[in-house]
Amino acid sequence: MPLSKWKAVLAAAVGTTAIAGTAYAADIPSWQQFEASTYTDPTGVRIVNGDEPVDSTGELRQFYDSLTSTPKQGKKLEEGLIVNTVNGADDKWSASQVGNLTYCVSDKFGADKAGIVAAMNGGAALWENASSAIDFVYVPSQDSSCSTRNNNVLFSVEPVSTSQYIARSFFPSTPKRSRNVLVDDSIFTSGSWTPSNILGHELGHTLGFRHEHTRPEAGTCFEDNNWRPLTPYDSVSIMHYPQCNGGSDNLQFSSYDAQGVRALYGS
Ligand SMILES: [Zn+2]
Repeated sequence: MPLSKWKAVLAAAVGTTAIAGTAYAADIPSWQQFEASTYTDPTGVRIVNGDEPVDSTGELRQFYDSLTSTPKQGKKLEEGLIVNTVNGADDKWSASQVGNLTYCVSDKFGADKAGIVAAMNGGAALWENASSAIDFVYVPSQDSSCSTRNNNVLFSVEPVSTSQYIARSFFPSTPKRSRNVLVDDSIFTSGSWTPSNILGHELGHTLGFRHEHTRPEAGTCFEDNNWRPLTPYDSVSIMHYPQCNGGSDNLQFSSYDAQGVRALYGS
């Protein structure tokens, strides 16, 4: 099954989904239980919502608190892309920074590196073609020292070996020390999900976009309310997990994705 790993990802996230979902009152774990059950990836970063890193215990506690606080009811959604918010403000890059999103691709990918470089190009092009404000800039001269500690690039793309996700990334508000895209080699064997679309999804997070399926219209996979809608709900968004009542199974870039990125960064 091509999606088996993503189902595993969701299973990992279901612990949190269930907290905010139906069995709300009865199934809330204690903070200690929640912290102990949170997946830590091989780089020591803890992962929530399937592929989103939290940077510190304080941030994980904030996440836990946001899940276990009383859900906002009856929130009207006039306006499928949604932007992450931090303390109510959009989590986005400045106009100058979004036009120069530099990255390296680690030599540690070995024989897989050319495929990762190509998939990054393909994933970046989805967003760049929709908004001329956005430019992801590959800096191959930094590939030999491609880590979060390399200050010559905004972020690094590095290999990881894990059964918990295919790839994971970061948000604009993530501090430099955690700002990387980690990719497992299962990206090349994920069926109808092409490597370019998978990295396109991850690069969507790096631009500030949240999982579309956290919107109430999905009816499942709720994460939290820390986001602002940019377009109408879009079940076929690249940011919508297909297995969360998605309307597409191939993680393609949608017309609302294009509309949403233009709404946030300009056309
Ligand atoms: Zn994601």
